[in-house]
Amino acid sequence: MFQLVIHGGAGSLEGKTAEAKNIHQSLCKIWEETFEILNNKTAEEAVISGICMLEDDPIFNAGTGSKLQADGEVRMSAGLMDGVNNRFSGVINVQNIRFPIKAAALLSKEKNKVLSANQATEFCRKHSFNEHDPLTPTRIREYKQKYEGLHGTVGIVALDKKANIVAGTSTGGIGNETPGRVSDSPTVAGTYASSKAGVSCTGIGEQITQQAAAAKIVIRVEDGMTLSEAVSKTIMESNYFNYSFGLISLDANGRIKVGKTAALGEVYYAYHNGERIETFYK
Ligand code: ASP
Repeated sequence: MFQLVIHGGAGSLEGKTAEAKNIHQSLCKIWEETFEILNNKTAEEAVISGICMLEDDPIFNAGTGSKLQADGEVRMSAGLMDGVNNRFSGVINVQNIRFPIKAAALLSKEKNKVLSANQATEFCRKHSFNEHDPLTPTRIREYKQKYEGLHGTVGIVALDKKANIVAGTSTGGIGNETPGRVSDSPTVAGTYASSKAGVSCTGIGEQITQQAAAAKIVIRVEDGMTLSEAVSKTIMESNYFNYSFGLISLDANGRIKVGKTAALGEVYYAYHNGERIETFYK
């Protein structure tokens, strides 16, 4: 038994049919390629490889195609959680590298597992991460237009044949944020897993953090709730504050649950429902 769910962010694509279709197609392709990796390798390898593909696709706001912060700089963040070994690692506001998730993966083997800013970038250089410019013309245009609107953070939760659950999330942030702002993605509020469940969130980072959303859902499953109950209760609590975010999750039985608060448009998810790849795109 192995299972996989991925997302390419959240928001609203109403009236943007072509963009919605592009995201759908990209998610389907990357889901298939990642599933193939999961068939032969571990959940950790699948999550890292799959997120690298998402980071490399400029349609998503992670790696190449990341949004710009208010000072015009791109700063990227990624979190990775190995559920069975209870190991969280991450990079916060790292610059000019191609694959932030690989930096998070490398840090999982270090004593200090989360690094930020210049020191995170220096760590990457020391470990032979080449200089890479993640800027794209689309994101520069959006930045100049002060475009507000979510979308494009990426995440994967995978369960492998040995029952390991791994969750990962990578983001360029929310766009036009105060330089140095910390997203939920490289924290346990945005990315969390245990041997019973795993979660990756997307949406307004401050709100996800205030709800400790990913960690709360996983802990609720640990304490006996079903995944569906844990997601519903957490979403209900967030609706009380009118928060705007969503998430993908899966449990040790391979059950998948995608959730979102009432204020959020939709989560751009993809998984296999037993018959075909199901995505947000109908
Ligand atoms: N959660 C991300 C952040 O706040 C943004 C997103 O998911 O689109 O940085």
